[in-house]
Amino acid sequence: MQALVWDGRELRLDTAYATPQADDATALVRVHLAGICATDLQIFQGYMGFQGVPGHEFVGEVSAGPATLLGQRVVGEINFACGRCPVCAQGLGRHCPTRRVMEILHADGSLAEYVSVPVSNLHPVPASVADEAAVFTEPLAAAFEILEQVHVQSSTDVVVLGDGKLGLLCAQVLHSTGARVCVVGKHPHKLGLLHQCGIPTAVLTDWQPRPADVVVEATGSTTGLQLAMTILRPRGTLVLKSTVATAHALSLAPLVINENTVIGSRCGRFPPALQALVHHRVAVTP
Ligand SMILES: [Zn+2]
Ligand SMILES: [Zn+2]
Repeated sequence: MQALVWDGRELRLDTAYATPQADDATALVRVHLAGICATDLQIFQGYMGFQGVPGHEFVGEVSAGPATLLGQRVVGEINFACGRCPVCAQGLGRHCPTRRVMEILHADGSLAEYVSVPVSNLHPVPASVADEAAVFTEPLAAAFEILEQVHVQSSTDVVVLGDGKLGLLCAQVLHSTGARVCVVGKHPHKLGLLHQCGIPTAVLTDWQPRPADVVVEATGSTTGLQLAMTILRPRGTLVLKSTVATAHALSLAPLVINENTVIGSRCGRFPPALQALVHHRVAVTP
């Protein structure tokens, strides 16, 4: 099959990459569309030392595997858990200590004609959700993960730092709770995509920071965390979404002084994201 392959130094198109095999527990998915996100770009900076086929956002069709799934249009969760350990038994397969992770840890990704995915990771895509929307399920699920981790209500002041894809998705998900959300970014044309959703935005250079109860750091840069710490209210919560490959130093004293809570936030469950797409609660195609 054709696949993009990252060897740790360069990305190349391999026209004769070995097609993965399917079995009773693993489906072969013919990729219709694949997304690219900042994590992919971090992989090419050395994040996690990954080598192989990049890509972890996709929608496709099952072309081999269990008969009940053949021809089914699917999206797939990217953490391949063992399903047997105590962590998996708690329902936290995304944190299984022996997991493989698509494009990140010992599993090829979706920038290829086919990707192999454990059957238990696949979710059928409702017919009303087009491929162009379904391909956003993975990052949208990561945005919904915040609601599993942080209690947000209509009186909560939330600032989302970063106007990349994940920032825009997090903003819409948080806005859907009724919370007061403001998104701060560097790109007026990206921030403008949120105006139709009624979400206030500010360009970083003109922004007058106001204290926030929750700050979501989705800048993808090393400076975002520092900025986030300066706007958190005492006892406020910082949600870290960026995965940055480079190490950086900063003083954590403000977190102690303000008794802030820091929450790392990564992948989420797919069903809430698919439901949001079915009911058009989040606009992804713009
Ligand atoms: Zn991603
Ligand atoms: Zn496990």
